Amino acid sequence: MSFDTLGLPEALARAVADAGYTTPTEVQSRAIPPALGGADLMVSSSTGSGKTASFVLPALTRILAARGDGKRREKGVVSGPRILVLAPTRELAMQVAKATNDYGRHVQGLRVATIVGGVPYGAQLKALRGPLDVLIATPGRLMDHMASGRAVLANVEMLVLDEADRMLDMGFIDDIHHIASATPAARQTVMYSATFAGHVGRLAEELLREPQRIEI
Ligand code: AMP
Repeated sequence: MSFDTLGLPEALARAVADAGYTTPTEVQSRAIPPALGGADLMVSSSTGSGKTASFVLPALTRILAARGDGKRREKGVVSGPRILVLAPTRELAMQVAKATNDYGRHVQGLRVATIVGGVPYGAQLKALRGPLDVLIATPGRLMDHMASGRAVLANVEMLVLDEADRMLDMGFIDDIHHIASATPAARQTVMYSATFAGHVGRLAEELLREPQRIEI
């Protein structure tokens, strides 16, 4: 299979080609088509499998589609991100942000913000004040910004939970519920986890609608 058959917009296909990737990995070829179709997904696939691109490319496709629809934001109107990615650690959040900027390099004016703990609030407050396309966050710090009314999640179209099992192991269950309930119920939700047994499976039942299960 080649990337051409996945139906990605030209700007993203070009970024994939720039990265030197010619063939999608298994998780990419199995997750990208249903994700582009708007399906909810439960995906088990490890780090190193190319899983980041399997949600970043569909997420960026939504950003491009929204622009094509003329839904581009008016200047100065802060309406919050269309895409929200939750990740367990600062390191993972930074990696996802880097991948988003890399795959989004031909998306004009793409605005990506990373909200993680252990760093000063200043730059994060500035990022949240402006218009955003993609917000990548660890749950704890995002909760702080929600409590002070600075993170607006009412426009989220797609919610991604990366390494959901690790987030639950770290005790983020209540935070994830709180964050998800601040996003529209009609959103698309994709969940990545090494396992969907036990409490991760229960969370999936609560957050996903008729999910497709992809096991690599
Ligand atoms: P991930 O599993 O998302 O952490 O990705 C692991 C590594 O694989 C990253 O360094 C990616 O840049 C790389 N990668 C992602 N997709 C592909 C692909 N289709 N072909 C080759 N390498 C890839």
